[in-house]
Amino acid sequence: MGLLSLGTPLDWHESKQYNEHVRENGIIQLINIFKQHGSRQNDVFYWGDEVEYMLVDMDDASKTAKLSIDKDYILSDLNDPEKPKSYQKCVANNISFHPEYGRYMIEATPLRPYHGDRIRDYLSVEENMARRRLVSQSELPSHIKPLTLTAFPRMGCPEFTSPATKPIGPASQSLFLPDEIINRHVRFPTLTANIRKRRGSKVAINLPIYPDRNTKLLDDSIPRDRDLFPSDREPSLGAARPGHVYMDSMGFGMGSSCLQVTVQAKDIDEARFLYDSLAAWTPILLALSAAAPVFKGYLVNQDVRWNVISGAVDDRTFLERDVDPYPGYDLVGGLDVPEEVRDHMRLLGGVRGVNGDRVINKNGDTKVYTNQGRPLQKIPKSRYDSIDNYLGDTTYSKKKPYFKDEYNDINSPINKKVYDQLVNTPYFDDKLATHFAHLFIRDPLVIFSERLDQDNELSNDHFENLQSTNWQTLRFKPPALYPKDLSEEALAETPGWRVEFRPLEIQLSDFENAAYSVFITLLSRVILKYSPDFYIPISKIDENMATAHKVDAVLKDKFWFKSFDSWNLDLSEFVGYDLSWFDRFINHGNDDLAADEVYVKGYSERAVRRFSNDFEPAYETCQGFNESKVPIRELINGNSSFPGILRIIIKYIATDLLSAETNHHCSTKELALKMLRLQSYLRLISYRASGKIPTTAHWLREQVLKHPEYKRDSKISSRINYDIIKESTRVSQLEPDILEEFFGSTISEYLMGTGAKEYDMANGVAH
Ligand code: GLU
Ligand code: MG
Repeated sequence: MGLLSLGTPLDWHESKQYNEHVRENGIIQLINIFKQHGSRQNDVFYWGDEVEYMLVDMDDASKTAKLSIDKDYILSDLNDPEKPKSYQKCVANNISFHPEYGRYMIEATPLRPYHGDRIRDYLSVEENMARRRLVSQSELPSHIKPLTLTAFPRMGCPEFTSPATKPIGPASQSLFLPDEIINRHVRFPTLTANIRKRRGSKVAINLPIYPDRNTKLLDDSIPRDRDLFPSDREPSLGAARPGHVYMDSMGFGMGSSCLQVTVQAKDIDEARFLYDSLAAWTPILLALSAAAPVFKGYLVNQDVRWNVISGAVDDRTFLERDVDPYPGYDLVGGLDVPEEVRDHMRLLGGVRGVNGDRVINKNGDTKVYTNQGRPLQKIPKSRYDSIDNYLGDTTYSKKKPYFKDEYNDINSPINKKVYDQLVNTPYFDDKLATHFAHLFIRDPLVIFSERLDQDNELSNDHFENLQSTNWQTLRFKPPALYPKDLSEEALAETPGWRVEFRPLEIQLSDFENAAYSVFITLLSRVILKYSPDFYIPISKIDENMATAHKVDAVLKDKFWFKSFDSWNLDLSEFVGYDLSWFDRFINHGNDDLAADEVYVKGYSERAVRRFSNDFEPAYETCQGFNESKVPIRELINGNSSFPGILRIIIKYIATDLLSAETNHHCSTKELALKMLRLQSYLRLISYRASGKIPTTAHWLREQVLKHPEYKRDSKISSRINYDIIKESTRVSQLEPDILEEFFGSTISEYLMGTGAKEYDMANGVAH
């Protein structure tokens, strides 16, 4: 989740005097990056995924499942060349393990990225994921399982850790989460404490409780009489909202797991277009991957983790959020403002001030400055949130750009000093400067005393300090600074301009996680190949983000998207490329159906120019930017006049990905097996979009609702927690008797038949 510097992290009250220092040097480093890499070209389309796991202690005797917080040593072993047995397993299996926020968490990625032109690489991702599970499991006792759960259902309930711990830690001051769940690396407890200190209160996340028949719309797990920290009073001062599950610590969010996919563009202009084009897909994929209906032992009335993390790292003061402080709390939180300003703010008591004079004016500005001269402003979003600005495609599609200034239509404050500095260099146009100037409204959260002074020609730690703690739905990733004497070949091997796709919830099985990773990567490929126009106003994407949180949003709700007839594609090009294209391609004979109707790689020249008549569109169209509200099933699978993104992807596979390996027919069994797996990946996305099979969130909710111990009170007992995790483990292991309810008959038949695949680890190096 970010940069791990070594050294002594500074407490917020000490570190805040260096905020401007970090920003100033971070910007010089950014400019140096652009100087070094602005004209970097022709990078290979590499891609990679990141999977976050929770180590869960499954006790089958007592029927409990707990987060295991004393097995984090495996991460050091797996990364320690001095421990050749563990370390070599990673190198030999092309995997790499990383620390994450939770002491019970591990993250794993491929060691070397995949190549976007090679079909075999799209198929090796699942095997690579399977190896990560095997390798981490081989370092753990058999009752500790590395599981891909988005949120641990009883996180923050009594006795949810193994070994047991008490929530009395000074870093988070949480009423529910012990500090022992936080990664031991000093960065993480400091991050936790500094967010609280900057904000001037604990974070407060309130999720609506799922209203079932016997549900009391009251979070009765909040201890009312603890007197350990002054912050213990916050729930009764207004932090806890009636009818909601209340959570008060960074761990509730950053302790969740997700799936991220990063792709490399050939140059900065392509990366900008990709970033912009993926933006509209972020809420769609959040809804399609929904996997988190339970938090802190409650069924909640939403399906995803996103707003939980957003709230969990929300370091904005009351003033910046434009809300009145709790009685006795400071509007300006822990900010570095002159004492007389703080006193004045205290006198005012609220954002409205005296005589109705608001502290914040209409534009979100104030007359309040920090000691370092930075003006305070209203900040509409948390630093973990959806993106605020498009980067613009004018540099990419010079002839006929799609982007219009009006698409950047939300109030997104910028650091004016940074903006002015950037536009005064030859490297940043208005859009790019705005993007980074927005990221630089934030303060650094953790500063290491040993890293205060850096060589800005060689190091980019100060830049990364801010960049990597702006956790948005997409991340625009510049290359790092590399030594000047690096040869051209060596430079070409270093990471270039990349885009990271971050909203996806983690899925239970490697099969699903591979499917979503492949889908995002192929989506990126078709964006670059066909240049569709996906621009809609950012405010509409934000509306979609809220919609994506709803229960079963993927089926029940519609989402703003560019109207299908405005994608700027010749839609008739994609006729014939539905999921059955794979069958036609694989089965010889089906390819020449009749003398006069020849399928070229599955495409029928005479196919009826219709896609399917399953759905009749009933769109709500918005005048102005050609966006409509559409159901996700149509966006993915198409309707009678629109191919859907899957056909576009399948055509790309047929005409571009395949051309490297085969010409016209599927000639080998090996290729046929690969294509069937690719078909199953896309089928998973297709079926989730159409509701033929449930999302993980829907399935998990069902597991609770039908559990014999469930009292229709929205509460997840320790036994329910164990049972749903046990069932989830069975899905992860693709146990035959659970597949059909989870994947439906077609996919489960594939998984049990042709697709059954034992990764050949026997001769490998995983043991
Ligand atoms: N675990 C976080 C999430 O679920 C992401 C942390 C990271 O950026 O790696 O979104
Ligand atoms: Mg991570």
